[in-house]
Amino acid sequence: MRAAVATLCVTAALVAAGPTGPADAAAAPAGPRIEVEIPGPEHGGDAGSGHARVPAAGSPAKASGRLSPAERSADGQVTKMIDNGSSADRLDVVVIGDGYTAAELARFHTDAEQKWAEVTAVEPYTTYRNLFNVWTVDAVSHDSGVSGDPDPATVRDTALGSYFWCENIERLLCVDQPKVDTYVAKAPAADLVIVLANSAKYGGAGYNEPSATLGYEGISTASAGHPKSGQVAIHETGHSLGKLADEYFYPGVPDYEKYTGPEPGESNSSVLPADRMAAQRAKWYRWLGEESPDGGTVGGYEGGNYFVTGLYRPTDNSLMRVLGKPFNLPGVESMIAGFYQHARIVTPLTPTDRTLRLRHKAKAAVPKLAGADGRQLVVRWYLDGRELRRFEGRTEVSVAELWLFDLRTHRLTVTAEDRTPSVRDPKVVRTLRSSVDWDVRL
Ligand SMILES: [Zn+2]
Repeated sequence: MRAAVATLCVTAALVAAGPTGPADAAAAPAGPRIEVEIPGPEHGGDAGSGHARVPAAGSPAKASGRLSPAERSADGQVTKMIDNGSSADRLDVVVIGDGYTAAELARFHTDAEQKWAEVTAVEPYTTYRNLFNVWTVDAVSHDSGVSGDPDPATVRDTALGSYFWCENIERLLCVDQPKVDTYVAKAPAADLVIVLANSAKYGGAGYNEPSATLGYEGISTASAGHPKSGQVAIHETGHSLGKLADEYFYPGVPDYEKYTGPEPGESNSSVLPADRMAAQRAKWYRWLGEESPDGGTVGGYEGGNYFVTGLYRPTDNSLMRVLGKPFNLPGVESMIAGFYQHARIVTPLTPTDRTLRLRHKAKAAVPKLAGADGRQLVVRWYLDGRELRRFEGRTEVSVAELWLFDLRTHRLTVTAEDRTPSVRDPKVVRTLRSSVDWDVRL
């Protein structure tokens, strides 16, 4: 469904792209092309302005690989910038810099910290920041800065081949994806990839096709030195992690005046106006009438998913439409659902592959939530499925405290549960729980 809409969008992207650089079609490399989202214009407010199919392998100006032995030894270094535990139970974000020379790698690390701070300033990232690990992978570039900055004639030799003016759109910041993948592969795990260009020029791109080989949900490119670039990257994670639709649309573009297709698959786009949504108990009906963090109340606002009429969005101006805004309530719910596709909220610290005896303790780690309301995960313990209420909230229990009185092997279980008011869909609520079991006996 998304692919069908996306193909149509190429036309809109061309119309909506605004000023373009000199035509350079003859120089475009052959090979596979992939779809990317184009960020909205710097002063336009819109989060995006359509899609383009771009060369997967980036611009014809390739990295030469000219690195000294010292540069080569610095290249590919992996650092766990934010460590919240085992990759098996966390969302792993991989940040790679492009256009940083060996001497500039320290600044890349500062830039990566700064960009992650921008992401985690936005809910629900703020509340759930401890569910994430962030890895940096050092990519040493021969030149400082990236191609296309400040103008299309500027070509630089960089590790990932980043370039502005991709497809002649100034703010579209493309990369050589196979090259990015060689660096992503150096990190122990990757659910999401951010490529930071060493540049202060406004721009970015969303590569939102999941990687078949490396498992990540998408790549966002962003310039390190432009504050709006971080907002573009967060918007892109709305697609890659939250599976959200764009809430912007194309007034004045003939093919996008009226939508007449089937109900879209995304949780924040519907053919149903609010009254019919409520009657049919569909899509975001549980949120209708609630005050949303992006302003106004949740309803059925006509326009969205690129079409001016025939499709509705939950609020007027969420982050899926306008840069610098928060997600709306249905968007927050979908982001949390996406987080829990990758995160588990209880991790055994005591191994689970052997029977625990009287002298042993069962220990587990449960992440702290960091929301303004102070709400925490609910931790409960069970013996053979019966709750041991006296242990609620604890993260370790010794076998001696269980008062076992027979010689059978019993099953001790700890569960962590997220009772967030930001999720109302029972199908999602069921995923906000993790548990660990141990065999225990006298
Ligand atoms: Zn978008």
